[in-house]
Amino acid sequence: NSFPRPLVAGNWKMNGLRASHEELIKMQKGYSAELKGKVDLLICPPATLVHAFAHANLGSRIGTGAQDCHAQQSGAYTGEISAEMLADCGASYVIVGHSERRQYQKEKDADVAEKATAAHQNGLIAIVCVGETQQEREAGRTLAVVRKQLKGSIPAGSSADNLVVAYEPVWAIGTGLTPTAKDVEEVHALIRSDLRRILGKVEADKVRILYGGSVKPSNAKELMSVPNVNGALVGGASLKADDFLGIATAY
Ligand code: PEP
Repeated sequence: NSFPRPLVAGNWKMNGLRASHEELIKMQKGYSAELKGKVDLLICPPATLVHAFAHANLGSRIGTGAQDCHAQQSGAYTGEISAEMLADCGASYVIVGHSERRQYQKEKDADVAEKATAAHQNGLIAIVCVGETQQEREAGRTLAVVRKQLKGSIPAGSSADNLVVAYEPVWAIGTGLTPTAKDVEEVHALIRSDLRRILGKVEADKVRILYGGSVKPSNAKELMSVPNVNGALVGGASLKADDFLGIATAY
């Protein structure tokens, strides 16, 4: 499971003030030479902290990302933030299509693909999120839903250098519930095979496919050892350095 190199990414969502810088410093201190040898770390704070965190992370090898971007480069979109602005602030990644945005902002696959394209055009790596709701899982539609989201959300021009895929079952996010290792294996295998169809085998096999949904130190080892799981997208447990580093040490 060490190829591609694993990525443990933290999504802070709408949490974090300037004082949270202290937690980042703890993460930097705990990111030992041994861990650096095994796993990449990324923190995606709210947009208000991207610039400060990117600056603080210089030299630490912890990456800085954002949680969303607008599809347009600039213009009359009050309140929005473009991929160019995020890159200008020092971000190197941006999450697109998180289920909370699909749910609350009604983002569709085509919107997600446009945002990923904007990310790519500005040199950012897009973390494209997909995942089924509880209702869809119960209806036996998990694989069909994930395939459709993947196909619609991954734009032309994607490669292993600018794309990370995160499988996040909506019902597992923030609930403490997780799918079985077998269920995760099935979905990740499907994502890999669809990526091969979209990107070609050589490129697809280098793309990191993250699992997300209630990952914590106590379940990280089991989830991270599933074939085709190349890291984690972590919400709640990424807010505290001890938990976040505890997940990274699953590698
Ligand atoms: C997320 O929202 O990306 C997530 C995985 O959240 P949590 O880890 O809190 O379930």
